[in-house]
Amino acid sequence: MTDTDRARLARLLSAEQETYSAEHPRSRELFEAGTNLFGRVPMTWMNKWSGGFPLYLDHARGNRITDVDGHTYVDFALGDTGAMAGHSPAPTTAAVARRMGELGGITTMLPSADAQWVGAELTRRFGMPLWSFTLSATDANRWAVRLARLATGRSKILVFAYSYHGSVDETFAITGPDGTTVSRPGNVAPPVPLDVTTRAATWNDLASVERQLAHGDVAAILTEPAMTNIGIVLPEPGFLEGLRELATRYGALLMIDETHTFSAGWGGATREWGLEPDLFVIGKSIGGGIPCGAYGISEAVAAAVTGHTDTGEADIIDVGGVGGTLAGNALSTAAMRATLDEVLTEDAFAHMTALATAFTEGVQGVLDEYDVPWSVSRLGARSEYRFARPAPRSGEESAAAHDDDLDAYLHLAMCNRGILMTPFHNMALMCPDTTRDDVDRHTAVFREVVAALYD
Ligand code: PMP
Repeated sequence: MTDTDRARLARLLSAEQETYSAEHPRSRELFEAGTNLFGRVPMTWMNKWSGGFPLYLDHARGNRITDVDGHTYVDFALGDTGAMAGHSPAPTTAAVARRMGELGGITTMLPSADAQWVGAELTRRFGMPLWSFTLSATDANRWAVRLARLATGRSKILVFAYSYHGSVDETFAITGPDGTTVSRPGNVAPPVPLDVTTRAATWNDLASVERQLAHGDVAAILTEPAMTNIGIVLPEPGFLEGLRELATRYGALLMIDETHTFSAGWGGATREWGLEPDLFVIGKSIGGGIPCGAYGISEAVAAAVTGHTDTGEADIIDVGGVGGTLAGNALSTAAMRATLDEVLTEDAFAHMTALATAFTEGVQGVLDEYDVPWSVSRLGARSEYRFARPAPRSGEESAAAHDDDLDAYLHLAMCNRGILMTPFHNMALMCPDTTRDDVDRHTAVFREVVAALYD
């Protein structure tokens, strides 16, 4: 296995930083002018750019982004999944324009007929019978977590170490010594110690899950069907079935977050792998880029919740802590309808999955050629490389494989050669507009930047 030569990596990174800086004067100027923005950017995550400042957007369509310095990129980041349908897909744009212009009424706190169409479509794809809308996956998780606690009368949420489910207080936990649960490093000012709200377990380790469930205080296991926020860590055979069985045995609900794993197919991993969640969450992509999210619940969960709301003990119609003013608005429901009906179709998923397969084979070929100690994992239309071989089996193992310098080098080197990868990941997502040429271009550039380091 080839070792990484750190001195060589430092030289290569510094050369890429110089190129980036020289080629993006306008982006740099805008960044320097952003003095009224916290961190100089509209949202602090946008500072996750290893060139010292972010690219500034000029325009984007399909899988192409053009920055303010006039460079056009093949975009495999796709807004970290928000643009899985491609940038500004025509059917979504038309539906949104019609709602905003011709029809009018962006947000009125009144239901629209589109919402029922979307609910029926989500049932067709993911199986959950009842749906409610939000404006983000974070909110969908937050509200579904509250409903899970209400339905079960239990206080804690079980999560896997190094998972991510949005800015939901209960979820920023990792495993500590001797089965304890502790705050994840970097967690911003948790309201209470994490072991008050949460039980953390290790992905692919059913015994660790059972140890936590045995305390009898877990309302729900909240999990992605595959971890996607610490590289892609796939479930081993039997793990997801085991989770379902343990949840039922210990009286906890199973809550599946498909915000990223929707890439697995038209009906997400839930359909692809026959999962049986009690609560289900999705966000980011289903509105074609217009803010939206949704949670689905089973009839049993709905009955348990209304058992408490009918008596007036809990309030879901007003200020009880579930729901939001702009959630389910006419604009986002029109966007979801058009995106699901005409863009993220079964044919689109077949195309995207075939391309992600070719992408993954291309990356694996380069890793084999140069004997690079990394691995690559694919989940449907999404592929990600990680600096560990063999591929990590848990969040803890994957976190240990993190390498800031390698990460920075790869992202910058790709960007300087016209390819955008998600800043938080080495993740590539295909959209309906991605072509085989785009994938081959990635493979060629990947070979070039890997060879510069390992040849
Ligand atoms: N769930 C998962 C699995 C996610 O990856 C994310 C965001 N990366 C979220 C929820 C939260 O999404 P948002 O930031 O759009 O609320």
